[in-house]
Amino acid sequence: MFTDFTEASTFVSDNGIRLVDLKFSDLWGRWHHVTISAKEFTPSLMNTGVGFDGSSVGLKSVKSGDMALIPDLGTAFVDPFSEIPTLSFLCNTIEADTKVLFHSDPREINRRAEAYLLSTGLADESRWGPEFEFYVFNDVSFENGINIASYSVDSVEGNWHNAQGGHGHFIPIHGGYHAIPPKDQLHNIRSKMAITLEEIGVPVKYHHHEVGGPGQCEIETPLMGMLSACDASMLVKYVTKMVAHDEGQTVTFLPKPLYGEAGNGMHFHQQLFLEGKNQFYDPKSPILLSQMALYYIGGLLKHAPAVLAFTNPSTNSYRRLVPGFEAPVNAFFSMGNRSAAIRIPKYATEPEKVRFEFRPPDATCNPYLATAAMLMAGVDGILNKIDPTAEGFGPIDENIFSWTPERRATIKSLPTSLEEALKALDADHQFLLKGQVFSEELIASWIQAKTNEDYQLRARPHPYEIELYFDL
Ligand code: GLN
Ligand code: MG
Ligand code: MG
Ligand code: MG
Repeated sequence: MFTDFTEASTFVSDNGIRLVDLKFSDLWGRWHHVTISAKEFTPSLMNTGVGFDGSSVGLKSVKSGDMALIPDLGTAFVDPFSEIPTLSFLCNTIEADTKVLFHSDPREINRRAEAYLLSTGLADESRWGPEFEFYVFNDVSFENGINIASYSVDSVEGNWHNAQGGHGHFIPIHGGYHAIPPKDQLHNIRSKMAITLEEIGVPVKYHHHEVGGPGQCEIETPLMGMLSACDASMLVKYVTKMVAHDEGQTVTFLPKPLYGEAGNGMHFHQQLFLEGKNQFYDPKSPILLSQMALYYIGGLLKHAPAVLAFTNPSTNSYRRLVPGFEAPVNAFFSMGNRSAAIRIPKYATEPEKVRFEFRPPDATCNPYLATAAMLMAGVDGILNKIDPTAEGFGPIDENIFSWTPERRATIKSLPTSLEEALKALDADHQFLLKGQVFSEELIASWIQAKTNEDYQLRARPHPYEIELYFDL
């Protein structure tokens, strides 16, 4: 929004701004914030920043946690949910003593990935179009299950109960795709979300009710530059949660909140541009995708098990990646096929629009790290000419779930657990270290933190396990 401090400071005084809010992402992709008085918004803030403890948010070790936040002036927005006029910034983090940019700051890793792309000469810009799927729940109680848009579901059995009435208009299980009001009870809430996003500078392509019924929604943004798309992802999560919260409802991006119902994906449409030209477009190719795009796909699918440690980094991520819910299970590409890890949308035929989508990711990812990892895998594919067809990654346009298990076993599987993805990352991460985009240190702390989450989950008895084994 602003290009220099004077511009920002003038905006603060001209618009009655009383508070300045500094937001930053922790290692796992969760925002934190600290709020300062507008009187403290002085030029020195841009050098010294506002101190915080990096060890409390996974960025630093406990013994050397001192860091500071420097607002990124280009990210300013007036926070639509603050009662007192507040100007918000997303921040860069610096070392408190040396003032250098913190090497493992997720936004900084993201910028380094884009700089690495530039250094290869292959492209001067990557573009990203994330799709956001989420559920809106009436109420969530961690003891009694969840209550979804007037219906409640038993999360063990997956049975729906019309608990609060629905006047006969209700969305059956799996039946919510593009549903219309009155069945779609969330239209107005989603419209508020979309308009609020537009008002703070995040364009929205469309929104609709998703398959999971009732209560699953989708918001999609147009393709944007990499860092902008990631910043926008943080804003989408914030705005959707806040709008719902103000309406007494709850939003979750959890990949698989309900047994037996569609999960929440975060597909990423991807493109590389050079001098304003889409490098993934080739009019002579029958599928309109260039050789460069195919090599990128080859890299992404070859490194997919390791990449999923960043794009699908929760234990719950792997409850979504199961057959039967339009979520991918195997590493292959396809035209149109929604069980593929990579789908090439048939409707995107204009030179500017030709692209593919990578479907495994979900919103438990840190978008800054996830897009950086996908880009590094794709660029590795281009540089090493990884041919997806020669590697056995398709194209496959059939429904592979109708194949025999033996035939399906001929296509590489995606990881089926967080543990498997973390092991793959441990074994395959040289491609992430190029251009010093990721560091061994960051990868090691990621694996350690996520292995601990996996352990913590496995150490707890599961309700369904009780049902299976209690009386044995
Ligand atoms: N919900 C599906 C997933 O988990 C996607 C469904 C769709 O967008 N067609 O990826
Ligand atoms: Mg969509
Ligand atoms: Mg969708
Ligand atoms: Mg999609």
